[in-house]
Amino acid sequence: MNKMSSEWGIRMQYNIHYDIAAMVLTAVILIHYYHRKAIKQPQSYVFTRLMWLSFFTDFLDIVTVVIDEYRLSPLLVNTVNVVYLVFFNIAPFLYYMYLLTLSKRRELWSRKDKLVLYGPVLCSVVLICTSPFTKWIFYYNRTEGYCHGNGFFLLYIAAIIYMIGTVVITLLHRSRMTVWQKTSVYMYLLASAAGILLQIFISDILLLQFATSLSLLVLYMSLENPNEDDDKLLGIYNRRGFEKVVKSAIEVEERFHLLVVTVRNYLIVRETAGVSFCQVTMMRAMEHLKAEVKPCLLFSISEGRFAVMVDKCRRADEIAGILQREFAQPVVNGDMNIQMKISILQIDYPEEVSSIEDVMDYIDYAAVYEAESNDEKVFHSSGEILRKMRHENRIQQAMQQALDKGTFQVYYQPIYSTKERRYNSAEALIRLIDDELGFISPDEFIPMAEKNGLILKIGEFVFRTVCEMMAREKIWEKGIEYIEINLSIVQCMQEDICEMLYGVMDEYDIPYSCINLEVTETVIAKDILWNIMERMTVGGVTFALDDYGTGYSNLTNVLKYPFHIVKLDKSVVWYAMENERAMCALRYTVEMMQKLNKHIVAEGVETREQLDILEELGCRYLQGYYFSKPVPEQEFLEKII
Ligand code: C2E
Ligand code: CA
Ligand code: CA
Repeated sequence: MNKMSSEWGIRMQYNIHYDIAAMVLTAVILIHYYHRKAIKQPQSYVFTRLMWLSFFTDFLDIVTVVIDEYRLSPLLVNTVNVVYLVFFNIAPFLYYMYLLTLSKRRELWSRKDKLVLYGPVLCSVVLICTSPFTKWIFYYNRTEGYCHGNGFFLLYIAAIIYMIGTVVITLLHRSRMTVWQKTSVYMYLLASAAGILLQIFISDILLLQFATSLSLLVLYMSLENPNEDDDKLLGIYNRRGFEKVVKSAIEVEERFHLLVVTVRNYLIVRETAGVSFCQVTMMRAMEHLKAEVKPCLLFSISEGRFAVMVDKCRRADEIAGILQREFAQPVVNGDMNIQMKISILQIDYPEEVSSIEDVMDYIDYAAVYEAESNDEKVFHSSGEILRKMRHENRIQQAMQQALDKGTFQVYYQPIYSTKERRYNSAEALIRLIDDELGFISPDEFIPMAEKNGLILKIGEFVFRTVCEMMAREKIWEKGIEYIEINLSIVQCMQEDICEMLYGVMDEYDIPYSCINLEVTETVIAKDILWNIMERMTVGGVTFALDDYGTGYSNLTNVLKYPFHIVKLDKSVVWYAMENERAMCALRYTVEMMQKLNKHIVAEGVETREQLDILEELGCRYLQGYYFSKPVPEQEFLEKII
């Protein structure tokens, strides 16, 4: 009841319309809340109590007015009023508790936190409950009806303590709260303060409960709005909801298993069968799964990727089995049978992850690893993978930055001709030096760049830089016949690769014969080299077969393709130095290449002894640290003079 009086201790008139409105409003919020099934977080527990409390307070308020109106028995009036007042005074306490829960874990609450939290409410409750005897808070008799006692203001003081506490917490944790959260807190405080003032100064309208309900609505919309956590299309929670749930579980240190499912061929299926096919298939799958994995929660993470949080009453491997079965059968689309291929990553807390950041990192980077996986297996997260993924991610960033800022560098490693006793060519090698990570080896970043496609830009950059240098320095006049440039398999797979190469060479107007392109046998295996060789060699560009002696080195490749150079891999050279049979094989290889009229470049020459042996074997071209490491352009130009 809106206990308003112009003077405490004087009987009041009540207007219950606002109470009814407040009750309806709270009921609507409650229905909406339970219908939408908001994600449970530690503060949700307090929020639901706050809503129910508000609802019953409204109800009791009306009841007190009615029974007061009809002057019912003092025992009944006293009891109802005690319950009403207790409820009414618990609200600011719960609100404060709500913010405290938001700001820190319950286990971390200090003694002072608990004293401020429970002290005032306990005092209020004791005062209210003893009031029928002491008449301190309120009193009732048949002539005057219900009246506030002299101690009623103490209840306001308790409420004000909580309001101050609320302000303090909000200010202390403002950096961690969203603008919306802060706004709703201030609105609640304003509404409550206005409510208290109204109650004190306006005696015939009772607004306080209505103001409280309104601020609950604001709180609901901004702090607890479950719509924001839904993936409307799939009818499951979204990534935001996922983060909330995982964060809460970690906050209360509750163990969990997550199964992150990635449809590996999602993009291909989307391209071939269309977006709506993908959506309908995923919707149906989610519909099934929701029933089968109950009560586990499902979350959509991104397109073609969702997660299941395994409930305590189910086992992770059992759920993984259900997921695999769900996607085991192809889906019919017109006259096509489409198979969605999934891989599952299992993340265990606290064994493998310790924070929400760890979990999200796994989910964001795991795709790379999953691409290499197969359907049967469930992948388990591990700290090792996480570190590796983070490191890779840093390198990806470093590459992107180097491209954006133009800080990639091209170094040159001169190649020595034993016959002419001077350098006759050089290999261009890319260098990446990151401010944070320092020198990053191309052996590390080139495979990554090949995976994400950055190699196309990197390759073009190297080619352009070399051509520009050659044109500027006219290096063919300095005895350098050609520069060897590495061509990645990914570059070779581009249809317009020859146009790019010719385009750049023409732009700098350099003789085509100054360029030698190094490819490995992986390019031959893909059967894409013929076309490129045919088109490039007409112009005069030559080719080298790189890393000969590793992998599947196949002599027929050397016979079949018009390679100008065969580069013996450094491992072959080094092995021959310590093993007689390997030396024998090397001798024959060199002999044979000579007969086939190929230039042989031996890589990895580090000592005088190696040089002598290789020269004796008949290797005419040598590359290695003994002569020079790969060096920046200026140093290279000084070396060849
Ligand atoms: P690669 O094509 O086999 O290049 C030769 C590698 O051997 C270079 O390593 C070079 O520094 C190193 N090397 C040369 N002589 C010696 C020696 O005497 N001792 C030792 N220990 N090493 C020697 P680098 O520069 O680290 O490059 C590694 C690989 O990265 C290259 O192997 C190549 O596959 C790739 N790469 C480098 N630059 C490019 C590029 O511009 N484009 C593409 N697609 N790949 C590149
Ligand atoms: Ca090479
Ligand atoms: Ca090589």
